[in-house]
Amino acid sequence: MTERLDRTTRRQILKEDQPFIGKVLDVGGDLRGVKANTRHLALMLMDTKMKYRASRAAAFASQLLDSTMNKKVTAPAACSKGCYYCCKTYVSVTIPEILRLAKSVRGKSEKVARVTKAAADSSAVPQAQREIDRVVCPILEDKVCSEYEPRPLVCRAVLSSSLPTCLRIFEENTGEPFPFLEDTTDIRVSVVVMMQAALILSGLPHVHFEMNQALAVALQHEDAEECWLKGEPIFADVPMDAADLRPSGLSAMMHSLVDHIRPTL
Ligand code: SF4
Repeated sequence: MTERLDRTTRRQILKEDQPFIGKVLDVGGDLRGVKANTRHLALMLMDTKMKYRASRAAAFASQLLDSTMNKKVTAPAACSKGCYYCCKTYVSVTIPEILRLAKSVRGKSEKVARVTKAAADSSAVPQAQREIDRVVCPILEDKVCSEYEPRPLVCRAVLSSSLPTCLRIFEENTGEPFPFLEDTTDIRVSVVVMMQAALILSGLPHVHFEMNQALAVALQHEDAEECWLKGEPIFADVPMDAADLRPSGLSAMMHSLVDHIRPTL
């Protein structure tokens, strides 16, 4: 393992990071922004004085993704308000995203009841079957996302280039690939990899979970964020996203980012 850099060098790196923090990412180009913001996320997650550091990191990652999407994605999306076809598919989330969402959902009794029901329905369907046996997202109300601000990263980045293709996928289960709007996949993958790398660097679990079941568990614990940050395995019974269990190009990217940043913390 590479040794930690000396204090002066680490301070200099943090100073050089400043112009990139929270700014639009140059996805696929200059990686300084990706590295600076991953370091920022990791330091935020390591700051034990901050009680809600996990949900705060999720909010930061969401803002980074939104601003990059707003700036870089110029093609018109087929999505519009009231179009909710993709809100009945499997949603994969990291725990900070769930904790942020739970904070907003907590106390909204009808919604909490829907989450509990959706978690039970989701647990009865194996992940591979979710593209056929669909479970409508419990956060959906009157065909719109009722938790738009704290919605997960994947929900923010799934923009379609073709409504007819979405209708075939989600209404007829044709199994076609989702027609992601250009650049959206690269942006989503970059931010998700950054979040996962920051979680590893801060010593926290980085894998993804099924949203409905993880959200139901978070809502059962008044102090879910505190418990999870203390290392209590409150999500131990929630199934992980099978994609995280397979070696992939994404995990290679994530570990390369971790190796690069670890000596600078
Ligand atoms: S959280 Fe919101 S955007 Fe995401 S699937 Fe549910 S309703 Fe749709």
